[in-house]
Amino acid sequence: MIHDTTYSRPLTDADARAALAQPGARALAGGTDALPLVKEGIDHPQQFVDLRYLPGSDAITVLPDGGLRVGAAVRLSDLATHTDVRERFLALAESCESVGTPALRNMGTLGGNLGQRIRCWYFRRGVECFKNGGDSCAAVEGENQYHAIFSDGTCQAVHPSDPAVALAALEAEVVLEGTDGTARRVPVASFYAGAASNPHAETVLASGERIVAVELPAASAGGTQQYRKLMQRGAWDFALVSLAAIKRADGDIRLVLGGVAAGPMRVNPSIEEDVASGALDEESVMALAERAMYDATPMTHNGYKVQQAASLLRDAMFTLSRA
Ligand SMILES: Cc1cc2nc3c(=O)[nH]c(=O)nc-3n(C[C@H](O)[C@H](O)[C@H](O)COP(=O)(O)OP(=O)(O)OC[C@H]3O[C@@H](n4cnc5c(N)ncnc54)[C@H](O)[C@@H]3O)c2cc1C
Repeated sequence: MIHDTTYSRPLTDADARAALAQPGARALAGGTDALPLVKEGIDHPQQFVDLRYLPGSDAITVLPDGGLRVGAAVRLSDLATHTDVRERFLALAESCESVGTPALRNMGTLGGNLGQRIRCWYFRRGVECFKNGGDSCAAVEGENQYHAIFSDGTCQAVHPSDPAVALAALEAEVVLEGTDGTARRVPVASFYAGAASNPHAETVLASGERIVAVELPAASAGGTQQYRKLMQRGAWDFALVSLAAIKRADGDIRLVLGGVAAGPMRVNPSIEEDVASGALDEESVMALAERAMYDATPMTHNGYKVQQAASLLRDAMFTLSRA
C-alpha cells in the first residue's frame, strides 16, 4: 500500500535534482513498474518524483550530426510509431512495439523501461533471495525456466527490457544527471554492468541520479535492422530470448541477445566479423551460431534457451550476410 509516500512534479531540472536528493526519493515516469513494486512490498519510497514534465523530457530530436536524442519520458508507443525512428532505427521501433500491451506502451516511457526492475518470481514475491536481503539466488536450485544461461554473478535473473537490447546493438548511450548537476554518459551496453552482483539494483545509476535522455549515433542509422523476440505466448509477454541484429551502413554487424544474461549480451565480435565477411551458407551459419552459444551454462530448466538463441542467430546471420 502507498500510505505515506508523497508525490512531486518538478518543472525545472534544478527542482528535479533537489527533489531526487531527498532521502527515500524515487524517480517516477509512467508508474507501470514503480507502483507495482510498492504494492508488492518490495520498494518503500518516501517520495515519488515525477520526471515527465521536465523541459525536453518527451522530445525526440534529430541531432546536428544525424544522431537521435530521445528524452527519458518519451512513451514507448511514440517511439514505435515515430517516422524517423522507424526509417533509421528500425530495431528500436520494433523493440518498443514488442513491449507488453498497447496500454502499457502508452504509459511506459523509455527511461522507465530501462530502469525497471527484474521480473524474477522469487524477487517479486518477496522470497529472501540475493536481491531481497539473502545470500543466494533461489532460482539456482528452484524454478529457473526464465533465468540466465550466461551467468555473471550471484543473481540469475535476466533484465526484461526489450528496448535495451536494441539500444545496445545500436550503440546508444544513456545520458545521466546526478543530484549535484554532474552529467555523464554510459553506453547502454554497460548500463547493467554488475547487475547480477548488486543486491540493490540492476543499473549503474547512483543514488538520486536520473536518466535525462538516450542518444543514438548517426553511424547506427539505416542499414538492415531487426528485433526478434520469442515469447511463451503470442499476446503480450516478456522475452524468453530476443535478438537485435543489425548490418550497419558501413557493413559492420551487431548481434545482441536479450533474455539470456543479466543485461543485453553482445555476441563475440569475431563472430560478427565472420557474418560481415559475405554470403554464408547454411553450414557456416550453423557453426557460427553454435560457436556463439559455446559458453552458455544453462540451469536445470532453461536449456531450451540455448536452442532458441541459436535459432534466432541462425536466421539473422543468414539474412544479414546476404543484405
Ligand atoms: C503486464 C506487463 C507486461 C510487460 N511486458 C514487457 C515487455 O514485453 N517488454 C519490456 O521491455 N517491458 C515489459 N514490461 C515492463 C514495462 O515496459 C515497464 O514497466 C515500463 O516500460 C516502465 O516504464 P514507466 O515509464 O512506467 O516507468 P516507471 O514504472 O515509472 O519506472 C520504472 C523504474 O524506472 C525508474 N525511472 C523511471 N524514470 C526514470 C528516469 N528518468 N531516471 C531514472 N530512473 C527512472 C523508476 O524509479 C522505477 O524504478 C511489462 C510490464 C507489465 C506490467
